[in-house]
Amino acid sequence: VIGYLDQAASAPMSDACREAMQPWLDGRFGNPSGSHRIARAARTAIEDARDQVALLLGAQPREVVFTGGGTEAINLAIRGTADPTAPRRIITSAIEHDAVREAAAAQERCGEQHDRAGVDQDGVLDLDLLASLLDQSVRLVAIMAVNNEVGTVQPIEAAVQLIRAHTNAAVLVDAVQGAVWLDLRTLGLADLLVISGHKFGGPQGVGALRVREGVSIEPIIHGGGQERERRSGTQNVAGIVGMAAALADADVNRVAMINRVGALRNRLVDGILRSVPGAIETSRRSTKVAGNAHLCIQGVESESLLVLLDDAGICASAGSACASGAIHTSPVLQAMGVEESFAHGALRLTLGAANTDADVDLALAAIPAAVQRLRST
Ligand code: PLP
Repeated sequence: VIGYLDQAASAPMSDACREAMQPWLDGRFGNPSGSHRIARAARTAIEDARDQVALLLGAQPREVVFTGGGTEAINLAIRGTADPTAPRRIITSAIEHDAVREAAAAQERCGEQHDRAGVDQDGVLDLDLLASLLDQSVRLVAIMAVNNEVGTVQPIEAAVQLIRAHTNAAVLVDAVQGAVWLDLRTLGLADLLVISGHKFGGPQGVGALRVREGVSIEPIIHGGGQERERRSGTQNVAGIVGMAAALADADVNRVAMINRVGALRNRLVDGILRSVPGAIETSRRSTKVAGNAHLCIQGVESESLLVLLDDAGICASAGSACASGAIHTSPVLQAMGVEESFAHGALRLTLGAANTDADVDLALAAIPAAVQRLRST
């Protein structure tokens, strides 16, 4: 029996996605840039998907650029809006995903200045700190919609108001972790917005960047000029069609899913807090999305705990792992001021549409046992 509690890393494909993709995996094909009927059918499928995604983002279809995932969309947003002849200043929240963190670091190497706006103990952006950093030298401010480790929802609307009052900087919202939980139309005020298919029941390796009309962007991938010259390369037709169907499905099911998953999450966290001495909930539940459980367990190393949990059939995460699998102290927990002895025992359990009570039962049996075993060795 497997309890998959790592939905924020990748969620299983939804039925709606699989059904939409099937014709494009099996029989239908064609290069969407071509001119004959097979090619035109592929192009029509992409443009229908673009209409669907745009509607769900509160955007115009021509503002939607399909990419090979969230990381690529973020890199396009950060580098593509830079003027290499006139380096300026970028501000990011202190808890951004590596994609934003490293793309901003790359801009620093190109001569741009990069400042980070701190967060409070729950991992929520401090608007006063943000305000203190804003002036006309800033060209881009990046704030994620929902944090990938601790699940906190960021005050995007208030931040955008503040940014607009002080600067004419573009606002980038990484909504990769928000798509399941938030109505993305409410983030329509962002200039640049990023989603990634595999976080909401779509396929891996497909994402989208919304570039608001009037924001000028240079491609970072050069070639045939697809996606209105903003992202060259033959589009992944099946992937794009599947992502659009998954996003529409997630949108329709959102409210019921949040209620159901929130109850599972609460039972899981309450159960762990009751049965594991020295466990704390990292941020208040009222500040975060329904599917995120994040705990810090004192005197336990995340890495060892994850191995024991894997043996017991629980797929979980420490919240912060490199592609190599190596675990480092999370910059997110550092920014929140979590004490080292707790941060080393970080455990992220993320739930979604596919989870059931059985997964929670399995975790509630496995986690206290694993912690006890680690403490007794
Ligand atoms: N931004 C956030 C907040 C994420 O959680 C992730 C993925 O973990 C990404 C960006 C990167 O997206 P992708 O995996 O599609 O490259």
